[in-house]
Amino acid sequence: MDNRSMIVNQTHLSFLDQLVKDSRPFESCAILLGKCDKGQYFVQEIIPTQNEESSEIRFTIDDNRLFEIYKLADDKNMSVIGIFHSHPSLPFPSETDKVYMKINPVPWIIKSTTTNEMRCFISEDQKNGNENNMISEIEIKVRD
Ligand SMILES: [Zn+2]
Repeated sequence: MDNRSMIVNQTHLSFLDQLVKDSRPFESCAILLGKCDKGQYFVQEIIPTQNEESSEIRFTIDDNRLFEIYKLADDKNMSVIGIFHSHPSLPFPSETDKVYMKINPVPWIIKSTTTNEMRCFISEDQKNGNENNMISEIEIKVRD
């Protein structure tokens, strides 16, 4: 871990808990809106998104819906700062996740529906000619 962090409050945590419960048995997903300043990602709003796959092991978000969310963020003067989804296993990125994390290099929060543990990861950009898909973990901080 480094000095980057994903900052959420108790309301966000309860919201995500409920979202996971409501989506069962499928994977749930949501887009996190907020602001990013010097590696500190402040969540301000969470937009739940329908899992187009109705799958227990993977998720897809409709392109039009994603476009709407980017526009909504823009209207609210926020940015898309993260992507949330749940796993019916441990909260680590799957091989498929890693591919999409590279395409969407924002922090990804994964919540395990088996252990309830939540972790956050980001795909690093490949500046130094590093062809490997480098994934770093980011600390999740809960305030108030
Ligand atoms: Zn996943």
